[in-house]
Amino acid sequence: MSDCLFCRIVSGQIPAKKVHEDALCIGFLDINPQAPQHALFIPRRHVATMNEATPEDRELLGHLMVSAAKYAREQGISDTGYRLVMNTNSAAGQTVFHVHLHLLGGRQLTWPPG
Ligand code: 5GP
Ligand code: ZN
Repeated sequence: MSDCLFCRIVSGQIPAKKVHEDALCIGFLDINPQAPQHALFIPRRHVATMNEATPEDRELLGHLMVSAAKYAREQGISDTGYRLVMNTNSAAGQTVFHVHLHLLGGRQLTWPPG
């Protein structure tokens, strides 16, 4: 989708600090980090929100989680802990409508989230 910010990051039209790249997804640092470690893992293919996810997207969505967990291991935060979260629509605060898995870590995270 040409008018989607994250599709533009996938195509390279908008720069991002990539931390992961493979055939299905990319990971990059969040521009406004909420923790010492804050990266976003997104599918290359445009899926607007989890509401549009279908059973065919199972592998793709699972792949985002496995890729994020691999990056957390590489960053040395897998033992201390981290959070993987996906916001859906306005009540959850979704601002970019191309699904993205937040990886947050490097500090003590509070629960429940705001
Ligand atoms: P949401 O609120 O939709 O779950 O998260 C969107 C995230 O995308 C936010 O954490 C925001 O900081 C990040 N973001 C928005 N625009 C850009 C951008 O142009 N580049 C990067 N790297 N992150 C962005
Ligand atoms: Zn998109």
